[in-house]
Amino acid sequence: MQRARHGWIEVVAGVMFSGKSEELIRRVRRALIAGRRVQLFKSHLDDRYGGQFRISSHDGRQIDAEPVSNSVQVAENVHPGTQVVAVDEAQFLDDGICEVVDALADAGMRVIVAGTDMDFRGEPFGPMGLLLARAERIDKLTAICVLCGDPATRNQRLIDGEPAPAEGPTIQVGGAESYEARCRRCHKVPKPDRAQRELLLKRGEEGWEGI
Ligand code: ADP
Ligand code: ZN
Repeated sequence: MQRARHGWIEVVAGVMFSGKSEELIRRVRRALIAGRRVQLFKSHLDDRYGGQFRISSHDGRQIDAEPVSNSVQVAENVHPGTQVVAVDEAQFLDDGICEVVDALADAGMRVIVAGTDMDFRGEPFGPMGLLLARAERIDKLTAICVLCGDPATRNQRLIDGEPAPAEGPTIQVGGAESYEARCRRCHKVPKPDRAQRELLLKRGEEGWEGI
């Protein structure tokens, strides 16, 4: 009798700049060295790699990330023979990714999910809270707080260099805002004053896309 393959879910969570992608790449590279059949997905919203995201091992094996917009695209594109599925920037996907990765793990695959677990307000980001609850293994990484040098656990959104208020979309496409890694003490989410409310409204009217 053939024993069923043993699947599981690993989540690499943490603040921006904490090295989640580096850790995902390390795990995928080792899976390639082990000769596993690996597929790598990443949200199309992350264009840090200019649309290209390739992982190669020293022995010449390499895979390209497949850009996806939602969880259904992950489910539809996993090949039956795949042994390891990696998903980067999972915070941008919908809650359906939880059922998808559960089904893949049930089918015997090792699933590695990386994502920012908190949004700029310090709230759970997209499906990450649900994924963390379902995972067999969790690693929560920290960055370095740019203000005090302590371990950073929070994403600080800045608009024109100033801490951004809680209002405004969680994900901004084509935004002029920037982000910093900060510790709990240095992380600021001020209530918007009148000028900031007007600025946010004006940007909304100019077609800033919030999703
Ligand atoms: P993530 O996927 O978690 O956003 P990456 O793996 O893309 O992180 O990048 C991690 C790298 O970012 C670090 O190795 C370091 O070189 C760099 N980095 C930039 N700013 C910081 C910071 N404030 N704290 C830690 N690393 C930082
Ligand atoms: Zn700090």
